[in-house]
Amino acid sequence: GPGLVTLGETLGLLVADDVGPLSLARGMRLSMGGAESNVAIGVSRLGVAATWIGRLGRDPIGDLIERNLLAERVRAVVRRDDAPTAMMLRERRTGSVQNVTYYRHGSAGSHLQPADVPAGIVEDAGVLHLTGITPALGEGPAAAVREALRRARAAGVPVSVDLNYRSRLWAAATAAPVFRELAAGAEMLFAGDDEARIALELDDRTGPEKLAAALAELGPREVVIKRGRHGATALIDGELIDVPAVPVQAVDSVGAGDAFVAGYLACRLAGRDPDEGLRTAAVTGALAVTVPGDWEASPRPHELTLLGAEDDVQR
Ligand code: ATP
Repeated sequence: GPGLVTLGETLGLLVADDVGPLSLARGMRLSMGGAESNVAIGVSRLGVAATWIGRLGRDPIGDLIERNLLAERVRAVVRRDDAPTAMMLRERRTGSVQNVTYYRHGSAGSHLQPADVPAGIVEDAGVLHLTGITPALGEGPAAAVREALRRARAAGVPVSVDLNYRSRLWAAATAAPVFRELAAGAEMLFAGDDEARIALELDDRTGPEKLAAALAELGPREVVIKRGRHGATALIDGELIDVPAVPVQAVDSVGAGDAFVAGYLACRLAGRDPDEGLRTAAVTGALAVTVPGDWEASPRPHELTLLGAEDDVQR
């Protein structure tokens, strides 16, 4: 059935087993990561159809990614490219601070083109989900994002955008106008408060309510400012909603944003209202920080009560 459709780059991921400088790492765990595929997996685990579109190399990391997506029941619309699949290394410098090194310049994923998005896929989607990462990868990926956005809007398909600023890929001043363009095309917009400030070119003192209002003025009816352990602030059809974080013992903060978005979009795709979407998102976001790994621990529907939040989640 019509579910989530997303496109972007998924990378091989090596995470140091132990905390400390990466140059001294004795063991690393091999996995994969990518904001868009993380969201697709999160949605699929919650029982909603999801499709991921992207390029992978003709290499074992490409095989690993395609295999994991299929195992997660994410439809993978993949073109194999002559360039290698991108990689990233994650150093766990302290118990809570992680550093990412990318090996993605000239990668297969960065060769994404508008023609990689087959006719009908976007048009038949329940939601098209885009991120601010893909336009930073090159002209082809930026064009693919614009084309998918245009086609979704022409077909009346709601567009979701997570700004996802990556400072290793581009400067804030370069990203800002692109973020505003994506926001203007979106019906649902997610941003960290820092990312909202980059998009709007506002200073550090601007609070979440103001940021949400300013982003909503660009066009989206549903704006969510993600604020980590402080929860989220949403502006839904003009109504301001405070979304408290579910208190948990955090062990790995990476992936919380994608898990939050997946929880929200899965609910919206299942026809639930934004309030329920936000409550579920707070649970999926909190669950993601309780385990290492970006997507591996995404909950199934019956696991949404794991954190003892039964009363806050109506199903
Ligand atoms: P990412 O690191 O994946 O890019 P993000 O910055 O996009 O994350 P966050 O704001 O860190 O997103 O997290 C998204 C949501 O997950 C928060 O709004 C909150 O509901 C939940 N969350 C994040 N961190 C915690 C935490 N320590 N405890 C409880 N909930 C959390």
